[in-house]
Amino acid sequence: ATPTALLVGTGRGAQLGILIKGPEVLESTRVVDTIVLDKTGTVTTGQMELTAVHVADGVDEADALRRAGAVENASEHPIARAIAAAVPGDLPAVRDFTNLAGHGVRGTVDDVEVTVGRAALSGDLPAELAEAKSAAEARGDTAVVVGWDGAARAVLTVADAIKDTSAEAVARFRSLGLTPVLLTGDNETVARTVAAEVGIDEVIAEVLPEDKVAVVRRLQEQGKVVAMVGDGVNDAAALAAADLGLAMGTGTDVAIEAGDLTLVRGDLRVAADAIRLARKTLRTIK
Ligand code: ADP
Ligand code: MG
Repeated sequence: ATPTALLVGTGRGAQLGILIKGPEVLESTRVVDTIVLDKTGTVTTGQMELTAVHVADGVDEADALRRAGAVENASEHPIARAIAAAVPGDLPAVRDFTNLAGHGVRGTVDDVEVTVGRAALSGDLPAELAEAKSAAEARGDTAVVVGWDGAARAVLTVADAIKDTSAEAVARFRSLGLTPVLLTGDNETVARTVAAEVGIDEVIAEVLPEDKVAVVRRLQEQGKVVAMVGDGVNDAAALAAADLGLAMGTGTDVAIEAGDLTLVRGDLRVAADAIRLARKTLRTIK
């Protein structure tokens, strides 16, 4: 490898908005055949908005939202930001806040222990809430359950827009010979809806944060050479384990630190450009 060719490659990369950690990264781009895409913040904008509040019989809608918002106010999760932002007026104080990574949050509001997150946190859903949850998920919206006093009290739905560049990016990955895989902690139905909209067939959903790295390793054990694109704290270990880790520059510092390549803008198409550019640079060198 001549240092000049590498410099040309990386200089062009900088113009496109790609930061490359070192020349050794180029070699991995030649052999990758699978590209694992994190859903939230990578394929979607990650800027979620509350779309509906559904309550169980006898539960006050404003009360459910206020309690959920109070607990979520202590979390940085995009779902939490959406819920806390939707509460009008001041939020009540929360005691004993616990973040249950990949599951939700818990805290005490008005002397009642409140949970917000996966359905399993708050027990069986009454029929009307189960229906609201399924309908939202079929549309591709994420549904979280609010519970207190040992029962599910409300379902809140949040929408996350798919980036308008994601479908084009997936098409570019395919033209480079890469098989795209959608990876998420979110519900299977939501993940399948998003995947279908951008042209991805393979979905690995409901994966806990600490298990994302195991998914990458399993694909590698199957003989795949894996690129991974992610943005979150949750994605850092998987980015590091991947043969080629691509971090969204709009994401967290931990993810950027773990990646081999950084995509300065949030545009997933640049991931395909980065791989094409790196392959071309390699051909020039060899
Ligand atoms: P992702 O892979 O999309 O980043 P996470 O692993 O962060 O997903 O979360 C997985 C699931 O856990 C969410 O879809 C949601 O059901 C639940 N969850 C996690 N954190 C929260 C939170 N702060 N509030 C509500 N639900 C949460
Ligand atoms: Mg993410």
